[in-house]
Amino acid sequence: MADVIDGNAIAEELKAEVRAEVAALAARGITPGVATVLVGDDYGARMYRRQVERTAGEIGLAYRDVTLPAQAMVIEILDGIRALNRDAAVHGILPLRPLPKGMPEGPVLETLDPAKDIDCLHPINAGRLALGQPTVYPATPWACYVLLERYFARKGLDPKTAFEGKDLVIVGRSNIVGKPAYFLALERNATTTTVHSFTWRAGTLPAHTRRADILIVAMGKAEFIKADMVKPGAVVVDVGINMVPVLDAAGNPVTDEKGRPQRRTVGDVAFDEVSAVAGAITPVPGGVGSVTNILLMKNVVRAATAATRQPSLR
Ligand code: NAP
Repeated sequence: MADVIDGNAIAEELKAEVRAEVAALAARGITPGVATVLVGDDYGARMYRRQVERTAGEIGLAYRDVTLPAQAMVIEILDGIRALNRDAAVHGILPLRPLPKGMPEGPVLETLDPAKDIDCLHPINAGRLALGQPTVYPATPWACYVLLERYFARKGLDPKTAFEGKDLVIVGRSNIVGKPAYFLALERNATTTTVHSFTWRAGTLPAHTRRADILIVAMGKAEFIKADMVKPGAVVVDVGINMVPVLDAAGNPVTDEKGRPQRRTVGDVAFDEVSAVAGAITPVPGGVGSVTNILLMKNVVRAATAATRQPSLR
């Protein structure tokens, strides 16, 4: 059976480390501040906002909420971001996505001060990552590697060299997960392959995933990766977050007392069957997602520290 990589335990370790960094800044009279920008009332974006607020509070960061109605004009959103860019008490800004339908994302991300971009969303920061000159790491793909590195360290391997020459396959090529995960793999000298929906259509996806010593899956497809797609002994990182109906033993949907269908969260990997093949695996929930928010806060602390060292060029 695979080792289960405990994201909650690693998140607690990270939290303690970031709290110590916050205490060191507090001793110098600095409280790092983070702001989220929510436009409209998308459920997922609101949940994310709440998580950021809660994590900021737990770690000792100041939190600012900027919420605008879904009908807001693009110029109002950009003005809101420019105000946060100018605000010396705000060191990190996170625009929450998705934006309301039809609202262009590009101008919002490009208006962010790159020095306050805590999720590597600004084209300058994304470009620097691609060039191997990163200034900030995007939280979700970074979380994958932090989980892997801490797992390798627990197994007595040197996390700095554990990736070298390993076949690392990433399923998915989105701008927020799959693509940056590729650059982070190259940074660690892994032999890196990205596969996507066209790989699947070509019928070659399982051949690629079965080669992987390390498999990172970010597809948004519930329990898509099955045991026969995974190399025995591989280390599997599941980024997916999918809601599926809870079924009873006969395969019928389970409802609550008000007749509402019950749902549960699963990843992109069929956890039970893949656990029987893999060497290690991250669970969902309790894996990548647990670590992502703490790393966002770590980026806020880093931005606050940098702001004290360097006069802003804004
Ligand atoms: P996305 O933008 O929808 O991208 C999905 C990627 O999967 C695309 O590149 C797509 O290929 C690929 N794909 C879809 N079906 C495929 C198939 N049958 N075979 C091979 N590749 C396939 O999703 P995302 O934003 O990257 O998110 C991925 C998952 O991670 C979601 O479940 C999301 O909820 C979760 N997530 C988790 C966190 C966290 O903190 N844990 C953060 C962000 C996202 P094409 O490019 O060819 O369409």
